[in-house]
Amino acid sequence: MTVPENAGFNTTAVHAGQAFEPRTGAVVPPLHFSSTYAQDGIGGLRDGYEYGRGGNPTRDALQEQLAAVEGGNHAYSFGSGLAAEDSLIRALCRPGDHIVLGNDAYGGTYRLISRIHSEWGIGHSAVDMSNLEATAAAVAQAPGKVRLVWVETPSNPMMKITNIEALAKVAHDAGALLVVDNTFASPYLQNPLALGADVVVHSTTKYIGGHSDVVGGAVVLNDAELAEKVQFMQFAAGAVSGPMDAFLTTRGLKTLGVRMDRHSENGQAVAEWLLDQPEVEAVLYPGLPSHPGHELAKKQMKKFGGMVSVQFKGGEAAARKVAEATRVFTLAESLGGIESLVNYPSEMTHASVKGTELAVPENLLRLSCGIEESADLIADLEQAFKAIGN
Ligand code: PLP
Repeated sequence: MTVPENAGFNTTAVHAGQAFEPRTGAVVPPLHFSSTYAQDGIGGLRDGYEYGRGGNPTRDALQEQLAAVEGGNHAYSFGSGLAAEDSLIRALCRPGDHIVLGNDAYGGTYRLISRIHSEWGIGHSAVDMSNLEATAAAVAQAPGKVRLVWVETPSNPMMKITNIEALAKVAHDAGALLVVDNTFASPYLQNPLALGADVVVHSTTKYIGGHSDVVGGAVVLNDAELAEKVQFMQFAAGAVSGPMDAFLTTRGLKTLGVRMDRHSENGQAVAEWLLDQPEVEAVLYPGLPSHPGHELAKKQMKKFGGMVSVQFKGGEAAARKVAEATRVFTLAESLGGIESLVNYPSEMTHASVKGTELAVPENLLRLSCGIEESADLIADLEQAFKAIGN
């Protein structure tokens, strides 16, 4: 089946790039493991396939599906989110260029830019991107040099919301490109390209894969010239996703919309419960009317997602005790899978930014609410909170 024009998200996610196999009619396109392709005479390629790094039908199917769900013209799949980010930056930036990024970006993104790309002459500065004046000022501090403005919204783990449309204007006025890391929202909840962003990056390890069984990343964009540069980097540097990883990611993406509805319901229920607990200092969730980005999130996101951060009055000790006392929420890095996870960012996902301008509060836990019953998630937190008492 082909995807009808103007099809809704779930129809697109299920069918884009997933034409049935013509010989047998297999509804699920076969998984192509072959690293190379027979040629009909020298240079006689079948359907353009020559060698697995340059092209693979399973990866192509995923790339078509990713482009379709993000509303982009081109998508490229990589071996991890950071491989996607690295390839993007090396494709688009040159020595002397500058990247302005959010001051609570994923720790690994900051580490990549500040410790790897800085060695090759790419500068960076970090700013609270939910504050547009501060961001415009940071961009103005490197006149003519800013090549990329890089934002996560919602951000990880502070759950700040940035106005993508307004930030695109700030970036474009300075001659820069806006890159949105859309990992937390997923393409079901938010499509940054439609709001003026130039590039979307994903850790597909998270909601897109959705089952905590595959690591991957993606770059999605519209501009053909920029896309060619990213494609060349993917081919020439070779940080591609393997066939099995691409297949698992495709399979996950087909159910993204259904899962995100449930993640969002559970995130809301958990956030509302946390708000009423005396041990809690703050709940960071854009679905709460008290969140400073709530109205904006309502406009640029379909729902609010499954990520909830919480800060404890009892400081680091309380956060650590709760993290180690949950039973349904598994204490683990990562997020976005069907199973709920709890993470202590200061020592886990964001350990690499401890002591830097991106350090996260030590009394903060990040919850990735899965698709279990919300009553079970709340009961689990309730019993874990007994570890800290009142
Ligand atoms: N972007 C965000 C928001 C993330 O949370 C992560 C990983 O946690 C990454 C990028 C990096 O992705 P990966 O771990 O797949 O390399």
